[in-house]
Amino acid sequence: MTPATSPAIFLDRDGVINRNRADYVKCWEEFEFLPGALQALQRLSWLGWPIVVVSNQSAIGRGIVSRDTVDDIHRRMRLAVEEVGGRIDVVLYCPHRPDENCECRKPNPGLLTHAAQMLNINLERSFMIGDALSDVDAARSAGCRPILVKTGRGLEQAALVEPPYMEGVYVAGDLSEVAAQILRTLNERQIAGMELLDTSRLRGGTPMTPYHIMAELRA
Ligand SMILES: [Mg+2]
Ligand SMILES: [Zn+2]
Repeated sequence: MTPATSPAIFLDRDGVINRNRADYVKCWEEFEFLPGALQALQRLSWLGWPIVVVSNQSAIGRGIVSRDTVDDIHRRMRLAVEEVGGRIDVVLYCPHRPDENCECRKPNPGLLTHAAQMLNINLERSFMIGDALSDVDAARSAGCRPILVKTGRGLEQAALVEPPYMEGVYVAGDLSEVAAQILRTLNERQIAGMELLDTSRLRGGTPMTPYHIMAELRA
């Protein structure tokens, strides 16, 4: 028998937590937290759910950055989050190049399904927050709920798809807005008791209303 599973918050890294760089984040000095991201991670930690970063780091496979450096960046990133009272429980990344056709590079769900096995995560109740269509696709393949943020490549990526694609995708300005929307659905009693959010309440007419990014782009 497997024990009861918990939902998780999956996050992409570049463009969600830190500023995206066309030439890759190659050292800690190039890692710049997006405004409000640290605070958002602190607030998401209140949920008591595993917080898992899932990131494509093909710069490793391309020989641009070493695994050790990437691990060091992640160690410092986690420390910075812990300094504000938040946490990132696990960082999983794909080191492969696209032409290696691995199972972990998003849009493949490998990183998410691996984390789910490791941490006994209920994927259906989990959220995957990203700024790229590959994040949305990975979320869908893994069976969890996609959230697209407009930071990083978010707006540009959303403009690439036809409206039906965005059905069922929650769209938020940035990670702060995601954290606020998720937490707003918790009443004070739940927060005080640290009970887990009943995510079924997020379906339908809840504060976390999906809306159409395309309509916004046209406006
Ligand atoms: Mg990204
Ligand atoms: Zn991979």
